[in-house]
Amino acid sequence: MIYLDYQATTQVAPEVADSMQPWISEKFANPHSPSRWGREAAAAIEFARGQVSQAISLDGGNLAFTGSATEAINWAIKGAIENAANGRNRIVTVATEHAAVLDTCEWLETRGYDIVRLPVGPDGLLSLDHLEAAFDETVALVAVMLVNNEIGVIQPIGEISALAHGVGALVLCDAVQGLGRVEIPAGPDLVAVSAHKIHGPKGIGALWMRRGAEPAPLIHGGGQEMQIRSGTLSPMLCVGFGAAAKLALEHRQADHSHVENLWNAVIAELGREWTVNGSSEQRYHGNLNIRSEGLDAARLISDLRDISFSLGSACASGSGRPSHVLRAIGLSDRDARSSIRLGFGRYTTEEELVSAIRRIDADARAQQGLAA
Ligand code: PLP
Repeated sequence: MIYLDYQATTQVAPEVADSMQPWISEKFANPHSPSRWGREAAAAIEFARGQVSQAISLDGGNLAFTGSATEAINWAIKGAIENAANGRNRIVTVATEHAAVLDTCEWLETRGYDIVRLPVGPDGLLSLDHLEAAFDETVALVAVMLVNNEIGVIQPIGEISALAHGVGALVLCDAVQGLGRVEIPAGPDLVAVSAHKIHGPKGIGALWMRRGAEPAPLIHGGGQEMQIRSGTLSPMLCVGFGAAAKLALEHRQADHSHVENLWNAVIAELGREWTVNGSSEQRYHGNLNIRSEGLDAARLISDLRDISFSLGSACASGSGRPSHVLRAIGLSDRDARSSIRLGFGRYTTEEELVSAIRRIDADARAQQGLAA
């Protein structure tokens, strides 16, 4: 199989699997128990917390582990709203956010909160003028992702944060697709990340919180994470996340150059029938979302079963709904259904990527009745 779905998930790095091994079997103690074994597990978790914090590289905050980035985002939004001062009942977000943000906001809307979903341009980028127009003293939270999971475009989180702070709002940055791939700019008060997008295990995420901006608890119980996130932590998953974060830092330059080479190789292969969705420049180049007029992308995916790639997003692929992100950049449903997302990175070779794109192109041409 040629795996080109790095935005959906990434394979566990061998170093990460090795680091987790002892915590699967012999080291099973509860990290919150006072025994020697419990303290050993707690120390491993603290070490991992430091590794993930270092990869995020922001000053003045703490990191809490969660069960996923979806949980971290739910916690950040609901907990920030709960802590907000009287009269601050607006959340400003963007039409192209992940469902974890959009669906949480939609739920809050049914409870009377004022949700503003800003549009993006054809390049997928937010206009700061639109953002400022939505700002007043009622804004409690601004939620904007760093790297888009469907089209890879990078929003200007530093500038957005400065403007939001100007009206006294907090900023949540969904950095799930950004961690280890692009720098997380200084500015956000809350940052959500996930291990499985950086060659770590599934089932663990984290919320970085600027000191003083911690959200009210979402999950109540034993108070294990700083009294604000309850539940017994899994040393195995925390250690794996820490190892993946350490590797991401160590491989940062090499991963970046490798991804740039892959992007250049695949762009050189693409014929004029293909158009890149979203900005090519303000983009993480390990994401290539492309369309070809008249293509039935779902059929392409089922024709090429040994190549793993997706429609606009993993979620959209499952539901059969055209992607809300592709719609937001102005694509018709037809164009959205003619779009595919290729995601590549550390373990992708240029040969496999080029051979996959040639087969994708040939199959698309055959479908459209074009000459090979
Ligand atoms: N945010 C973005 C941008 C994502 O791509 C994803 C995963 O697809 C999530 C949030 C949710 O992360 P998790 O799988 O850890 O819940």
